[in-house]
Amino acid sequence: MAIHIHDTLAGKKVALEPIAPGRIGFYACGPTVYDMSHVGHARSYIVWDVVVRHLRARGLTVKYVRNFTDVDDKIIKRANERGEDPVALAARFADEYLADMDALGNLRPEAAPRVSEHIPQIVTLIERLVEREFAYAPGNGDVYYAVRRFPDYGRLSRRNLDDLQAGARVDPGEAKRDPLDFALWKGAKPGEPAWDSPWGKGRPGWHIECSAMTLEHLGAPFDLHGGGKDLVFPHHTNEIAQSVGAVGDGVHAETFARHWMHHGFVEIDDEKMSKSLGNFFTIRDVLARHDAEGLRLFLLGTHYRNDFNFSDALLAEAERRLAYLYETLEKADRIGAGAEPAAEAPFAGEARAALDDDFNTPRVLGILADVFTEANALCDAKGKKSPADRARLAAFARDARAVAGLLGLLSRAPAEALRALRDRAALRRGVDGAEVERRIVERAQARKDKDFARSDAIRDALLAQGVVLMDGPQGTSWKVE
Ligand SMILES: [Zn+2]
Repeated sequence: MAIHIHDTLAGKKVALEPIAPGRIGFYACGPTVYDMSHVGHARSYIVWDVVVRHLRARGLTVKYVRNFTDVDDKIIKRANERGEDPVALAARFADEYLADMDALGNLRPEAAPRVSEHIPQIVTLIERLVEREFAYAPGNGDVYYAVRRFPDYGRLSRRNLDDLQAGARVDPGEAKRDPLDFALWKGAKPGEPAWDSPWGKGRPGWHIECSAMTLEHLGAPFDLHGGGKDLVFPHHTNEIAQSVGAVGDGVHAETFARHWMHHGFVEIDDEKMSKSLGNFFTIRDVLARHDAEGLRLFLLGTHYRNDFNFSDALLAEAERRLAYLYETLEKADRIGAGAEPAAEAPFAGEARAALDDDFNTPRVLGILADVFTEANALCDAKGKKSPADRARLAAFARDARAVAGLLGLLSRAPAEALRALRDRAALRRGVDGAEVERRIVERAQARKDKDFARSDAIRDALLAQGVVLMDGPQGTSWKVE
């Protein structure tokens, strides 16, 4: 078994080789917490969640670290607008973010460090960069990284320094020697939080935090670093420069993180998501109307490296697919109950192999789609099931749950999930569930009275609202089409 990933640093698919056998240190850049998290965050952290789940399922001990940026220009601006303390505002939105991650079914990381709690480590790291002459303090309270000291600087983004130089600029008040240089520490300005340092009061630049936190929680070098593809330059490029300068060999990017993974963007109805476009979907808003596993199923239908196109209609379709998966599981559970499950079906191994191949979640979902179709046909086939069929269905239900579990899917009891999916669909259609239940009682009475015209009329009226009645041995249940 070997797990292969598309490594941005190598520029190709490579085997993921742990530095220490059996262990993976994994760092994902976390959110800047100044507002509610949106669908782009949902995608990012569902992708990393699947990475962690699969690596663990493959027997690796994963230490997952995901930071909070709680000191940042956007946070300070928002806090000043509201007359609030920036660190307190960030703490509030960090709590909201964690609630969203839990709702999405993402595993919590082993460490969730915050910038505000790592200022001493950040200062020590910058001191070391100054000592090793990778950084300089021009005396105005700022400290800058000297980009031309690090020859591997453009490697991750595959750009050379002269191309980068063309886009670089020096802002008023900055004292850079070279426009390419970037701030490690910013001298205090009025209205901003500030901490003591050898260069006077100030606060860290954005990039240094991830160098300090990876060093603190994973050490250097570590195995795997992840983020959105928009972070390749400058953020990850600068992380590498800082870490290699301070604690690496000063030359090679691999002396920070061995491997890098980057995921694509989220677009909404084919437009890149942004607040200015007004298509900014918060996770909270989406989950008020949709099922969290439905959102996972939808997001994981696109390979993590590709851009993802979000739409309400496509999400609702994914939820209908999820309901079909749970309906099939429910039938398989019922028919296979008490049977000795057969040996693991080949599809489970195929699905694991698809995840070994750069976390190919669409292929896993394709494999599941085929076996669910088969299992469903077997469940619905006329006649009594043979012991072999029942053993097959029991094995299917077990293996399907195990594979889906790698994606954080099908974790609920089918009846509970189907009720939750139905209630969300009803809400979106403006259907009142209590009213449907009353009509079902009326219809049962009409049928008892042999008033079939009336019972049919009730059924047809509900159908016109998208409500489908299903008569079974336990009475009548309903779903929303
Ligand atoms: Zn970062």
